[in-house]
Amino acid sequence: MLVSFPGQNNMLVLRSFMILFFSCITIKINLCFPSIPSSLKTLSIDGHFDFEQVEHAAKDFGNRYSYLPLAVLYPKSVSDIATTVNHVWQIGGGSELKVAARGHGHSLQGQAQAHRGVVINMESLQGLKMQVHTGNFPYVDVSGGELWINILRESLKHGLAPKSWTDYLHLTVGGTLSNAGISGQAFRHGPQISNVYQLEVVTGKGEVVNCSEKQNSDLFYSVLGGLGQFGIITRARISLEPAPEMVKWIRMVYTDFDTFTRDQEKLISGQSTFDYVEGFVIINRTGLLNNWRSSFNPQDPLQASQFKSDGRTLFCLELAKYFNHEDMVLVNQEIKTSLSQLNHIPSTLFISEVPYMEFLDRVHISEIKLRSRGLWEVPHPWLNLFIPKSKIHSFAQEVFGNILTDTSSGPILIYPVNKSKWDNRTSVVIPEEDVFYLVAFLSSAVPSSTGNDGLEQILIRNKRILDYCEIAGLGVKQYLPHFSTKGEWKSHFGPHWEAFIRRKSTYDPSAILAPGQRIFQKPIAYS
Ligand code: FAD
Repeated sequence: MLVSFPGQNNMLVLRSFMILFFSCITIKINLCFPSIPSSLKTLSIDGHFDFEQVEHAAKDFGNRYSYLPLAVLYPKSVSDIATTVNHVWQIGGGSELKVAARGHGHSLQGQAQAHRGVVINMESLQGLKMQVHTGNFPYVDVSGGELWINILRESLKHGLAPKSWTDYLHLTVGGTLSNAGISGQAFRHGPQISNVYQLEVVTGKGEVVNCSEKQNSDLFYSVLGGLGQFGIITRARISLEPAPEMVKWIRMVYTDFDTFTRDQEKLISGQSTFDYVEGFVIINRTGLLNNWRSSFNPQDPLQASQFKSDGRTLFCLELAKYFNHEDMVLVNQEIKTSLSQLNHIPSTLFISEVPYMEFLDRVHISEIKLRSRGLWEVPHPWLNLFIPKSKIHSFAQEVFGNILTDTSSGPILIYPVNKSKWDNRTSVVIPEEDVFYLVAFLSSAVPSSTGNDGLEQILIRNKRILDYCEIAGLGVKQYLPHFSTKGEWKSHFGPHWEAFIRRKSTYDPSAILAPGQRIFQKPIAYS
C-alpha cells in the first residue's frame, strides 16, 4: 500500500508532470536500477548491506509484529546513510521501497521495521566517538545510534550526566528522541526532546542537515518526537549537568487515589525537593511490602510488617533525591521535612540509598532476571497514555475500579508532568492541559496462557480502556502511538495534522519513501 497524504495532491500532479517531462531520465534511471537489491549493491559505501540475514530486523521488543525487509544497511558513516536514502529518493515512486531507521529495536508495534524495504541498523554508527564538553553549559555529542547507558558511562567520567532519562537505558538516542523520552525527571527538565541543543539529520532526500533552535529550526523541531517520519538522526548534542554520587530512593503507599495524586501534583509543582517523581498502581496483590524489603529499608519495621493490603487497590509513590556524600546530613533533613508534608500511610515508608548509576540502570537488573527465566522475549502488548489532569480521576475510577481486576501481567506506572517543560514546536502530541499524567500499562503476555495474563485477554483489556477513553471524551493521547488507518492518525494529531502534513511533504516529499515508521500502513500481526 502506498503512503498517501491529502496535502500532497498538488505535489503528485507536479511529479506526474515532471515524470512526463523527464521521461528519458526516468527510463535511464530504471535501466540503471534493474532490481532493488542489485541497485543497492552498486552503491559505494563504507559499511555494507546484508540481503540474507534480515530476520532480526523483522523483530522488536513488542514481539507481535514482523515485517521482513529486503536489506539491512550496516552504515559505517553518515554518508552511507545519506547515499542510501538519496538512492531510494532517486529511484522514486515506482519502487515502493521504504526505509526505516532501527535503533535498539525496542519498539512495540513494528515502528522500526520496513516491509520489503531497507532497515538501517543505527547501532553500527556507534564508531563515531562520543565527545563530552565541559564548561558552564556542558553537553555531549553522540551518534544517533548510541545507547543511553553508554552516554551515561562516558559522561560520568567527566562528573557529568544527561538531565532527563527513560526508565530503561538500553535504548538509542535516535529511538527515544523520535518519541519523547520520559521518566521521573521530566516534571523538572521536560522529556529528553527538551534537552537537545543540536541535531544532524539525513532528510528523506538524502541531504545531511545540521539543525538547532537557531539553524534550520523547523527541521529540528519536526524530527524531535517525529516518529522517524522526517529524517534520520545521525548525531545529537545532549545537554548535561553535574552528576550526583548517590540517590535516596523512596517508596510509600496510599489507598486513596485523590490523596495520592494531590501529593504527586504538589511534588511536581514549584521548587520540589525531589529529583524524580513517579508512581505505580497495585491491584489485588498481597505481600507488596515484603517484596520491597529485599532492596528497601522500612522506616518503621514493626508497623510495616503488620500492613495488610486486604485486596485493596494501592497507589505507590516513588521518589528520588540525588546527593553527594558530603551533603548527607543536610539532605536527610530536607527529605524528612518534605516527607512530613505528604499524606501516605506512615507505616509504608521505605527508603534505600544507592549509587546514581545503579538507580538509573535499575530496569536492566529486572531484564537480567527476566531473561534468565525466559520471560523477556515474550509479547509485550504495552499501552501508554497521556491523560489530562482534570480527567485522571474519572479515568482511575473506571480503569482501576472496573476494567482491571488485577495487575498480574505487569507494572502500571502513573505520574504527572508539567506541560510547560514540553516545547510545543516539536512533533510530539500531548494533551492540552498544563499538567498531564503518563499512565503506562507495561504488560508481558505469558505464552499460551488463556487467563488474564494471556495476550488475547490483555489486548481485549487494552481495547476496553481505549474505548472508554474515546466514549468518555477524556482527551487522551497515546504515547509511542500506533494506528492502522489514516483517520486514526488524523484524530491523533488533531489540530497538528496540517503541520504534520506540511513537514512531511517538506522533508520527505516522496509519497513512497517514509524513513522510519510506515505511518499509515496496516500492520501484519504474528499469527
Ligand atoms: P527503535 O525501536 O529501534 O525505533 C523507534 C522509532 O524511532 C522507530 O520509528 C524508528 O524508525 C525511529 N528511529 C530509530 N532510530 C532513529 C534515528 N536515528 N533517527 C530517526 N528515527 C529513528 N520510553 C520512554 O519514554 N520512557 C521510558 O521510561 C521507557 N521505558 C522503556 C522500557 C523498556 C524496557 C522498553 C522496551 C521501552 C521503553 N520505552 C520508554 C520506550 C522507548 O523509548 C521506545 O520504544 C524507543 O523507541 C525505543 O528505542 P530504540 O532505540 O529501541 O528505538
